Amino acid sequence: MKKTVKDMDIRGKRVLERVDFNVPLDEKGRITDDTRIRAALPTIQYILKAPAKLILMSHLGRPKGEAIPAMSLAPCAKRLSELLRRPVKMMKDCVSSDVEKEVASMKDGDVILLENLRFHKEETKNNPEFAKKLASLGEVFINDAFGTCHRAHASTEGVTKFLPSAMGLLVEKEVEYFDKILTSPEKPFVLILGGAKVSDKIAVIENMLPKIDSLLIGGAMAYTFLKSRLKGVGSSKLEEDNVEVAAELFSKARESNVSIFLPEDHVIAKTITPDARTKVAKEHIPDGWIGLDIGPRTIKKFKEALKDAKTILWNGPLGYFEFKPFRRGTTEIAKFIARLDAVKVIGGGDTAAAINELKLGPKMSHISTGGGASLEYLEGKGLPGITALEDK
Ligand code: AMP
Repeated sequence: MKKTVKDMDIRGKRVLERVDFNVPLDEKGRITDDTRIRAALPTIQYILKAPAKLILMSHLGRPKGEAIPAMSLAPCAKRLSELLRRPVKMMKDCVSSDVEKEVASMKDGDVILLENLRFHKEETKNNPEFAKKLASLGEVFINDAFGTCHRAHASTEGVTKFLPSAMGLLVEKEVEYFDKILTSPEKPFVLILGGAKVSDKIAVIENMLPKIDSLLIGGAMAYTFLKSRLKGVGSSKLEEDNVEVAAELFSKARESNVSIFLPEDHVIAKTITPDARTKVAKEHIPDGWIGLDIGPRTIKKFKEALKDAKTILWNGPLGYFEFKPFRRGTTEIAKFIARLDAVKVIGGGDTAAAINELKLGPKMSHISTGGGASLEYLEGKGLPGITALEDK
C-alpha cells in the first residue's frame, strides 16, 4: 500500500500537488466540462484545512514545449477559485524566480497554480534538473492526477526523487477500485471492451482473462476479432496486423474458461456521417459497408451476458457513439448496466463521456478519471506515477 495525503505531516508546510486540470476548452477559452477540477477538490480542501500552503501544478493539452497562450491554465485557476470560494493565484510560468518569490511569501491556506507544465519540453522528458526545480517549491509532494500516472514525467515521477511523496484522495479511490477488481472481484465478472484500438487492449485482455468469466467485445475492435473468425467485415475499421493475435486470444480464453461474446449483427452505413443512412447486417458485413454499432440482436445477447454479473468493468464505446445513428448500442448497454446490482467500474475517456452524457454517472460505482491510465493499470504493470510514491 502506498501512503496517502492522510499519512503525511503537512501542517504548516508547502505542499506541491500534481493535479489533472487537463479540461476541454471551447474556442473562446471557456471550460466546457469542469469534472476534473471538481474531482480534485477533496484533496485540495483536505490540504487547505490542515492548514498548509498549496502549490498546484498540471498540464493542459499538448503544447509540446512551447508557451501557447490558448493552453494556459488561467481558466482553471478562475474556476477553482469559484469552487473553493477563495483566491487562487495564477503564475505566469511553472519554474521562474517570480514563482520562487511568490512561494516564499505564501501563508497557510494560500493556493497558487503554476502555469502549464508542458510549456517546457523537460516535463514529458522527465528531466531531473526540471523535476528538482519543481520539487524545490514544496516540502511534501502529493500526486492526485490519476490520468497522468501512467506517464513517468518530471511532475509525476521525477519530483518523487526529491520529496516525501504520497497519493491524493482521488488517486487513492482509483487505486482501491482497480486493485479490488484485479485481486478479488466478486464473480461473475464481465469485462466489456469497445473503442477503436485493439493494440491498446491486447495486454489488458491477456492480464484479465484469468480473472474474468465473460468478455464482451464491441466497437471497431470487434472487427479484427470477427475477421479472425472469417466473418465478412466489409470496409469496417480493422487492424490487419492483429488478426492473428485475436485468434490466439480466442484459444487463451478457452484455456481460461472465459466466454467471448462478439457482435452477431451490426448497424452499418456507407459513410461515417451524422446523417448517414443505416441498415442492420446479420453476421457478415457486405463490401463497401462499414460496421459502426452493435445491432439489436447483439444488444440482447450482451444484456443476457450481463444480467447476473456481480462485477462489470467497461472500457470503450460499443459503436461510433459521437454520431447519433451509431449510439444505440452504447446507450442501451449503459442504461441496462445502470439498473444492475453489481460493482460497476467505467474506464475513463470516451466511455466516461458517454455515461456522463446520459447522466448515468450516479448509477455507477466508479467512473475513472483516466482512460489510458486505467487501461495500463488493468495490464497489471503498475503505473510509474504511483509506483514511485512512498509505501506505508
Ligand atoms: P479507443 O480510443 O480505442 O477507445 O476508441 C474510441 C473511439 O472508437 C471512439 O471515438 C469511437 O467513436 C470509436 N469507435 C467505436 N466503434 C467504432 C466503429 N465501429 N467504427 C469506427 N470507430 C468506432
